Amino acid sequence: MGHWLQTFKGLATLCFQSICPLCQRSTSQILCDHCERQLRQSQLPQSEQAWQGALPVFAWGSYGGNLKRAIAALKYEQQPQLARPLGDWLAQSWLACNLATHKPMVVVPIPIHDQRRKQRGFNQAELLAEAFCQRTGLPLSRQALLRHRATEAQFGLSADLREQNLSGAFRVNQDFAKRSAQSTVLLLDDIYTTGATVRSAAQVLRRHQISVCGVVAVAKTQTAQASATEIS
Ligand SMILES: [Zn+2]
Repeated sequence: MGHWLQTFKGLATLCFQSICPLCQRSTSQILCDHCERQLRQSQLPQSEQAWQGALPVFAWGSYGGNLKRAIAALKYEQQPQLARPLGDWLAQSWLACNLATHKPMVVVPIPIHDQRRKQRGFNQAELLAEAFCQRTGLPLSRQALLRHRATEAQFGLSADLREQNLSGAFRVNQDFAKRSAQSTVLLLDDIYTTGATVRSAAQVLRRHQISVCGVVAVAKTQTAQASATEIS
């Protein structure tokens, strides 16, 4: 009997083990303890400092090293499960800072173009927003914004060209516009670099009289423009 019990326990452990997407160690969580510790070192000490101005920004971590690697794995190596811990950590630091607004907030992920979504199978910002909303309890509106033309990859473009590239890239879902007069949008993206993408999204929402209280992002580049890859 003891033998069978042991075998069963062994099988159960095997079934609940998965492979850490960053180092291939086996783990019972999404990330192994080692990678989680490494990643958490990217957390910014005072995320709320940039929560000011026309479009306030709240980012969980500094874009580089392990965090850059994790976001790349999420987007380009088919590891959508990484959105769960990253979105959750963003939510935890957001809740800790308690940045309340007058109107109730609704979370809107920055969309990617349909074509890219089909290739990748998911929109990383939407997955991050799901995890963020699960922790914060804020409502999520997946389809509030639509990206109606494929923008060129932003990599290597100057700030001016990025703005041009993005102008007209977003469209507001009409149903959302009708329903959202009483609330304020909290935009969510994976990486904040120059802010061109979120400014363009905020602009189109505000043109529809929808208020936008700010942006939350998992990572923010330290030097706003230099060497950043703003590829959706
Ligand atoms: Zn690992």
